[in-house]
Amino acid sequence: MTIKIDNNLCHIVCPICASDSIINSDKLFYEGTVRYSSAEIQLLNKPELWKCNDCHSFFTQNAIREEDSISLYTNSEAGKRWDTKKFEDEKTPYCLSVYKNYLREGIEVLDIGCNTGEFLDFAKNNGASTYGFEYSIDSIKICESKGHVMLQNLDERNKKFDLITAFDLVEHLYNPSTFFEQVSKLLKPNGKLIIFTGDIECWAFKKCKGKWWYLNYPEHVMFISKYFYENKLSTFKLENTFYTFNNRYFKGLNFTMAALYNYSKMLGLRKGLKPYEGLPSLSPDHIIAVLVKK
Ligand SMILES: [Zn+2]
Repeated sequence: MTIKIDNNLCHIVCPICASDSIINSDKLFYEGTVRYSSAEIQLLNKPELWKCNDCHSFFTQNAIREEDSISLYTNSEAGKRWDTKKFEDEKTPYCLSVYKNYLREGIEVLDIGCNTGEFLDFAKNNGASTYGFEYSIDSIKICESKGHVMLQNLDERNKKFDLITAFDLVEHLYNPSTFFEQVSKLLKPNGKLIIFTGDIECWAFKKCKGKWWYLNYPEHVMFISKYFYENKLSTFKLENTFYTFNNRYFKGLNFTMAALYNYSKMLGLRKGLKPYEGLPSLSPDHIIAVLVKK
């Protein structure tokens, strides 16, 4: 069943830094009937890619409204949309070595948007006590069955963490500033937040703009720049950045095949593939940002 969605969310100021200096940057490649989480939806308006001149971040105009988004995620079937492969088999060796550096025996880790617990399993195997937060009811059940403690909401005040991770998450946020405030309150002094997201300053984006594969998911609505973390974020200090691929398969020719496959899946096409018009990621197109609570 196709759900009609009036994707009419337009920002009059930058949703990331609140500046009113925002401009239309490009059109986006998807429209009409698309996949959203595990549902098939029909978009009534054409989405656009906009840029903020102050924080150099990008965001979607004519985005799906947050209430529609939450409802689509909450009812989504775990594992039908995002990968549920074992973390070690999925991520680049470089990525794994970065994360390992921040895990120690006995630390308390919260993974926000933990899917079916792929990273939490990895953290647990590296000695951490593991907590998760997720909208999907299906995913919550799976995480609990593996021994991870699931938080009901992010306003819980009696529990503080050494490390909070948000992988493939910030691009889905509607209120990044609320998110950073909430996370800051959930961290112990000097606690760290590790973010993994698409790098809006990468080579592939600079070359193909709105056609870059990463922008062609209607779930992705915020593309936060490194500049924002460095200069505009009051609750955190940027400690380090690392650049890597989305996973160990997304590179060069493999990437093109994966993109074609994902894109066809996204549109629900079986025949008559609409070709991917962007460029393959020949250099890393994801950023790992390590932030320390101020
Ligand atoms: Zn901004």
